[in-house]
Formats: sequence, structure tokens, C-alpha cells
Amino acid sequence: MFRATLFRATLAGIVGVLAAIALVGAPTAASALPREDAARTIYYNSGRAAELAPLVDQAAEIWNSGVTTVRLVKGSGGITVVTSENGSAPGTASCVGCTRGTINFYRNQIKQSGAGPLRVVVHEFGHILGLNHPPDIGNCDKVMAGGRCDNAQPNAQELAAVERFWAGRPAPVAGPVDERGVFGAPALAGT
Ligand SMILES: [Zn+2]
Repeated sequence: MFRATLFRATLAGIVGVLAAIALVGAPTAASALPREDAARTIYYNSGRAAELAPLVDQAAEIWNSGVTTVRLVKGSGGITVVTSENGSAPGTASCVGCTRGTINFYRNQIKQSGAGPLRVVVHEFGHILGLNHPPDIGNCDKVMAGGRCDNAQPNAQELAAVERFWAGRPAPVAGPVDERGVFGAPALAGT
């Protein structure tokens, strides 16, 4: 009688422990780090982006919707975005493939370039995300090709390149990019 009761109590205890393990184990096993949780986060601060701040958010959303290994999130301690009157190009990025740095936009040069402002913003974030200029400057299909174009949507190859870059253990790949003349370039014919 006593043994039977003890056995039942022990069995109940073991079942209880197993149930607890199952409860704790199940969510971890089921989620197994979804890709979004594993993504690198790059914070950006648009507090000094002035009238371009909404375009900065839009550009972040464009990149975020196309890649899963990295995410641009509004916050401090990452990329500071500053809009000023005049500079060497419509926009500049202080680094390529980096989580900390500065993007500068120059409103007069954006106007003079003839490129769409959102395209310029998406382009500079493309540098932060690890992309350089392609050889075919002025190809409107590529946001990294500059040119007097409006298209602000990266093409599949550009998105795939960002995806690959952050899937590894990336280190910054270059210093500031020379942006002079990139957006003033005529749009390539037939693209
Ligand atoms: Zn560039």
C-alpha cells in the first residue's frame, strides 16, 4: 500500500517534470531562431534629416522588405542622417557595410542632380548595407547606379547582394565612396 502510493507519487512527479520540460522545450525548438530574430540590426537616427526624414523611413522600409539578414531600425548609436544645404554630391555615406557611421544629404545637390530624392536616400543606405557602385552608372534599374532616375526600388541582384553580405560575418568593406557625378550621370538609354 505504502509502496504503491510512493510509486504513484514518484510516477506523477516524473510525468510532471517531463511535462515541464516539454513546456519549456517546445517553444524554443519550434521557433529555432526565426531569420528575422537572427538578422543584424542597424540603427539609424533621422533626427537631423530635416524634410528628408520621412524618406529615410521609407528607404529603410524598402530595404527591410527586400532582405532578411539585416534590418534598419530607427534608434540611436548607429547611422546618423544629416541633411544640409550644400555638399560635394547629393548624398554621401561615411562607410560601406557598416553599423555605425554618417549619411549626409545635400538638398541643393539633390535638386541639381535630377535624381529622385527617395532614390538618393535608398542609394546611400545601400552603401551602409554593403553595396558599391556598379560599372553601369546611370542604369535606372539599379539604385546603386545613380543617374538621373526616379526608381527607388533595388533590383533582385542588389537585394541578393545585401542578403549575402549580412548572412556572413561582415566587416566594413571600404571607407567613404566617391559620390561625385554619380547622380548627375544621364540615365542609360534603354534601361
Ligand atoms: Zn554612391
